[in-house]
Amino acid sequence: MSLIDEALSANATIANDYDSGLGGPPAPRIAIVTCADPRLSGIVRMLGLSDADVDMIRNVGSVIDDDSVRSLVISTRVLGTREIMIINHNDCGMLRFTDGELEDRLRRETGMSPIAPARFYSFTDTEQNTREQVQKVRSHPWISPDVPVRGFVYDLDTGRLSEVVPQEATLAGHSR
Ligand SMILES: [Zn+2]
Repeated sequence: MSLIDEALSANATIANDYDSGLGGPPAPRIAIVTCADPRLSGIVRMLGLSDADVDMIRNVGSVIDDDSVRSLVISTRVLGTREIMIINHNDCGMLRFTDGELEDRLRRETGMSPIAPARFYSFTDTEQNTREQVQKVRSHPWISPDVPVRGFVYDLDTGRLSEVVPQEATLAGHSR
């Protein structure tokens, strides 16, 4: 049996105990962009937040691309979240290849040149990459300046977050 079939079968039983109150209108207070890596799936609990407070936006590499921006604009403008956290992590799969290497591999394995996606957003420096993702959100005209945007690296070995200091603050010799 495939895992999907197992999940369907389990759902039929588990739903017997479903709390129908969970189907009410969402009212999240914070948007979190983080990696799709399964080791990040418990991040809400590690932050001491409740699931109901978090609008969770996940993709491989915690990347701020068009789609994350789309989600963040809706999250802050429609759902009413008032803060944004971007959480990257050590040992991210995006450190294990470059875009060029992956494209070469796909050409070899499929015999086709890639048309899309245009970028895979691999990176080599987790902290610097996180800083850039913060800047991308911060500079977007549809994300209100009133909404704080802060970046973090989550350590999978300790379960602790480290805040990534913005470049300007680093250069000025102080953090905010
Ligand atoms: Zn990752």
